[in-house]
Amino acid sequence: MAKERVVVKIGSSSLTRPDGGLDLNRIDMVCAAVAAQSRKDKEIIVVTSGSIAAGLGPLGLDTPPSDLSLAQAAASIGQGILMTRWTQAFTLYGKVTGQILLTAPDMMRREHYANARQALERLLALGVVPIVNENDAVATDELRLGDNDRLAALVSHLVTADRLILLTDVDGLYTASPRTPGARLIPKVSSPDELQDISVTTRGSGLGTGGMVTKVIAASMAAANGTKVRVTSADNLVPALGGEDVGTLFTPTGTRRGARRLWLAYAADSQGSIFVDAGAVHAITAGKHSLLAAGVRGYSGPFSAGDVVNILGEDGQIVARGFSGYSQAELEQILAMPDRSLAPRPVVHRDDLAELWPGAKTIVLK
Ligand code: GLU
Repeated sequence: MAKERVVVKIGSSSLTRPDGGLDLNRIDMVCAAVAAQSRKDKEIIVVTSGSIAAGLGPLGLDTPPSDLSLAQAAASIGQGILMTRWTQAFTLYGKVTGQILLTAPDMMRREHYANARQALERLLALGVVPIVNENDAVATDELRLGDNDRLAALVSHLVTADRLILLTDVDGLYTASPRTPGARLIPKVSSPDELQDISVTTRGSGLGTGGMVTKVIAASMAAANGTKVRVTSADNLVPALGGEDVGTLFTPTGTRRGARRLWLAYAADSQGSIFVDAGAVHAITAGKHSLLAAGVRGYSGPFSAGDVVNILGEDGQIVARGFSGYSQAELEQILAMPDRSLAPRPVVHRDDLAELWPGAKTIVLK
């Protein structure tokens, strides 16, 4: 029988003590749970944050640096410490670990993607627990996945995971901030429409990047690709791994899509926006066509040809993202043409375009 494949993501806020050091008890608990389940019927991949957090102490810092090169240095120092802790703890439970550090291009470029998948598959076949993080020591502001919730959703796609468990410091997704009177735990999200009225915060703890927003985005992204997602507290890992009904379950809302489109729709940072009319929205979504100059109402930039741009309908909603066929200056010239159908190429070619699946566009940040 095929083993169930589960990605477990644990963030800096769950892994660090109030004084900033790594919480070895927590790491031990995760290892115990993962080792026990992987001996049964599961292949488990751990996505861990904490490289920057673990590098703060040795550098004499209290808070994550805003300076990029210092953050990279902290990550470089901390990643080794973090991995050592995971390896030592897993060894006590008889499990071998393998480190995989991913960068944004690993998700964008076909060859890199296939390579990363092969590496993970081999580790799993060998009975090893892959420990994944973003390669923060070389990630730049422009070229980074940003938060590990998204990374975990992308890894779930990479290995075609059956389930993704996003651990956090609250027991699930609430209708409002859990401290708000009347806030209720949402046990299940079966459709992006159910997210319309919730209010989630972008603020994570001092050390994490995400808070609940990145979890909801990552969960929607993985669910849209056919993975079941559970968002719950790190304390609930054992029942969550065992398949018990804890926290919030996001049921699959779609089937698996191509990696490049997945990245484009959910992970890429956009450089600008292109505003289109209703006909163009229809052509992109229902017609599965390229975005042509005729349907463009305006733009905001600056962006170059090949940059990622948001495509927005008349209601201001992002309909899709794509690699722009033109720079902003070129687009300005095309839009001034008396006959736009003479434009040499589409504004965004179909092959370079990813519709935003339900879930990405309905998340309301209040
Ligand atoms: N990759 C970052 C780290 O290990 C964490 C990103 C996040 O907080 O989601 O420090």
